Amino acid sequence: MVSDCRCALCLTTLVVETQRYLCSECHNISLCLKCYDSPKSHTVHTDKSPLPHQCSLETKSQAEYIESNKAESIYEGFMNAFKNFAKRRCIGECIELEDGSATYKWVTYQELFDRAQRFGNVIQKLIPYRSKVGIFLTNVPEWYTVDFGCLFYGYSVIGINQHLRNDLSPEIKNQIPSSIDIKLFSEIMNTDIKISPHTPQRDGIHSITYSSGSTGIPKGIIGSNTETYILGYPLDFVPIQLSYLSLAHTQRLTDFTTLWNGGRFGIYRDTKQNSYLKDNSLIRPTFIWGPTSFWNQLHTKYLKNVKMIKESDHSKSDEQCELQAIAETRNLLGDRIKIILTTGSIISPEAFALMKKCWGEKVLDIYGSAEINKVAINGQITPDVEYKLSPIDGYDSHNGHPVGLLKVRSTRLFKGYYKNPEANAKAFDKDGWYSTGDIVEEYGQGKIRIIDREKNSFKISYGKLVCLDNIDSYYYNSPMIRNIFVHVAIVVPTDYILNKFKIGKQDNIDENFELVKEIEKEIKLIANQKNIAFWEIPKLIKLDRTIWTMGNNLISGTGKYNRLKLLEYYKPSVDQLLKQLTTLTDNDSFI
Ligand SMILES: [Zn+2]
Ligand SMILES: [Zn+2]
Repeated sequence: MVSDCRCALCLTTLVVETQRYLCSECHNISLCLKCYDSPKSHTVHTDKSPLPHQCSLETKSQAEYIESNKAESIYEGFMNAFKNFAKRRCIGECIELEDGSATYKWVTYQELFDRAQRFGNVIQKLIPYRSKVGIFLTNVPEWYTVDFGCLFYGYSVIGINQHLRNDLSPEIKNQIPSSIDIKLFSEIMNTDIKISPHTPQRDGIHSITYSSGSTGIPKGIIGSNTETYILGYPLDFVPIQLSYLSLAHTQRLTDFTTLWNGGRFGIYRDTKQNSYLKDNSLIRPTFIWGPTSFWNQLHTKYLKNVKMIKESDHSKSDEQCELQAIAETRNLLGDRIKIILTTGSIISPEAFALMKKCWGEKVLDIYGSAEINKVAINGQITPDVEYKLSPIDGYDSHNGHPVGLLKVRSTRLFKGYYKNPEANAKAFDKDGWYSTGDIVEEYGQGKIRIIDREKNSFKISYGKLVCLDNIDSYYYNSPMIRNIFVHVAIVVPTDYILNKFKIGKQDNIDENFELVKEIEKEIKLIANQKNIAFWEIPKLIKLDRTIWTMGNNLISGTGKYNRLKLLEYYKPSVDQLLKQLTTLTDNDSFI
């Protein structure tokens, strides 16, 4: 391999094993040892972070490192990465400073490696080899110590949903049988122990990933140590990202991709989406995976901004207002983005269009699941995936294109659910095709568009299949609607419209008929503009001001609507609406 790396100052080619410094802030800037000490070295930096930029002493180019990181198992792949990138920054924790500002404090790959070794060494004295280790944590650096400690010493990791408690509560503690020994993480890490080396973990289960449970009882997806796609894919830049939710499978894959490529990520410190933006502005990411609801909210924010710009200066044309709002939205996530991954449930088409306007080709729409990731990128089925559509009763086309339940086969397909023969029988047919549970429209050879989850659709009495995620997404572009749940419809209005109607925090919004009317009008307007079928337009709405979050369980661990919980939460309201609807429809022919 011919070296692709030159000193940014004297332009000398830096062949493999030549020592050089790599800048951690600038894109692809290396300096030979002589130039690094030269007073002119500061002139080569291109990134706007304050000088001096932190540089790490290295011996290969990014591409050469990635080549040497390739391996036959997850264990070996990460061992290579930890060795190659030992001196680079790895994971960061946000620290609040006395003056109210915040900064990220980083540990290096070597430090994380040492912590993980210590953790693994102690637990191998406590539990048998190949045991399963559950991680019951929020977003904290300890997550990664445990994850890699288990990888190095042959334990399988299971992430357990944790959103509500920061500590093991006394009630739970009292229910634990006395035969179970409780040790604090700090006790484990402070144990005086001689660190013994690990042996390569080439087989066995790397982790079991439970689906988020937004549609039914979670199933454990087995990921084995040989499934090296878990390591990620080569990137031609150093990924820098904010890790939003360690537990979520897509986040974990994004974190792994970051680490295997020698990048770094800050750990998101809160569950409020406004600080998601603040933390991103500290990190200035090059690589982003954000939950669907974030992009939808970013779009709502953008629409409000367009209105505000217009109201503050009437001389501006609509186009000027939009361009200004697009530039401001783009700035919210910093100025060095290389790739944005979107995934999860269906993003609202307007929010996606806005992302495209802000970041263009850098936005990759990844479709996949924990069972098989990257089934399609930007709607195009990936080359190593075979697919077919299985017909659905009474629903054979959409926009003139074939429609069906998507089934796939691939070497990257998961091997099965953990101890769940019933779910396995349902997921795979005898020829190994896996049913994704997603209804898609095939708009070209290998080109698919997701219409809905099979489980979120239901046949209404008009014999049409109604897709809930789709219906919800129609209404996201309204500056009045923060959340909408179409069953009949529960609407959570935005602060914008509440302020406009001068509604205080204590006021009962559902009895404010003017506001209800205004939002009904808005829904009708959107339905008209988008030619939404009449059965997809809510006939009755109820207003509510509960903010849907992971904290109250209305948003699932991966940022999707938790429909079962929403229905449970709103059941009294929905029942009441349905009762009213029956009375209404008796006199209403829908024409
Ligand atoms: Zn040089
Ligand atoms: Zn630099």
